[in-house]
Amino acid sequence: MRLLVVEDDKDLNRQIFAALTRAGYAVDRAFDGGEGWFLGDTEPYDAVVLDLGLPKKDGTSVLREWRRAGRAMPVLILTARDRWSDKVQGFDAGADDYVAKPFHIEEILARLRALLRRAAGHATSELSCGPVRLDTSSGRVSVDGIPVKLTSHEYRLLSYLMHHAGRIISRSEIIEHLYDQDFDRDSNTIEVFVGRLRKKLGVEVIQTVRGLGYILSAPETEDGAKPRRADPAARA
Ligand code: CA
Repeated sequence: MRLLVVEDDKDLNRQIFAALTRAGYAVDRAFDGGEGWFLGDTEPYDAVVLDLGLPKKDGTSVLREWRRAGRAMPVLILTARDRWSDKVQGFDAGADDYVAKPFHIEEILARLRALLRRAAGHATSELSCGPVRLDTSSGRVSVDGIPVKLTSHEYRLLSYLMHHAGRIISRSEIIEHLYDQDFDRDSNTIEVFVGRLRKKLGVEVIQTVRGLGYILSAPETEDGAKPRRADPAARA
């Protein structure tokens, strides 16, 4: 998942950037409304953290212009504490959620996870596909109930595929949504990551669709019937 942080307070921007990067997201940053608007208008972000009080162009105007141009990514706004009018204006401009300053960084992370999974149509923080489970709040992945350790790149890739299970994802979409602007955008790298991920999962959930990309779907059972369900509790 690739995120944009628009915040003019350098310390705060750095703190949010560090926390989101640690949580496994690819993150681009802007420090004023002009730059932020431009990035959000041209790059395909999965979600945006947008401060409202920004130089050059205020956050509400940035958001309103994105929405008017049809940019539908989830936007979490940062508002001044006790300024209820900020929140009303923000929601009216198209915000999906808000966090009031000062905030605890965990709250931003939790709200972003919720926005990302809702945008992808998931109701809970645990995503599953056949025997593979991914808990977006703890960052844990398991296959048939057995934990699998992934690198941050592998986790990012699996998380994106699981959020969009059942849909063909092209290599260029993966590159656009998993890496920040400075990443070396070579599609061979994606194949290498997919190969490693397949090996670690040990089950056939990532299918290659020739010429188009990849699709995540539950493997079929030996008799070709319904996909098997990973439910260790039920087997115990
Ligand atoms: Ca500000």
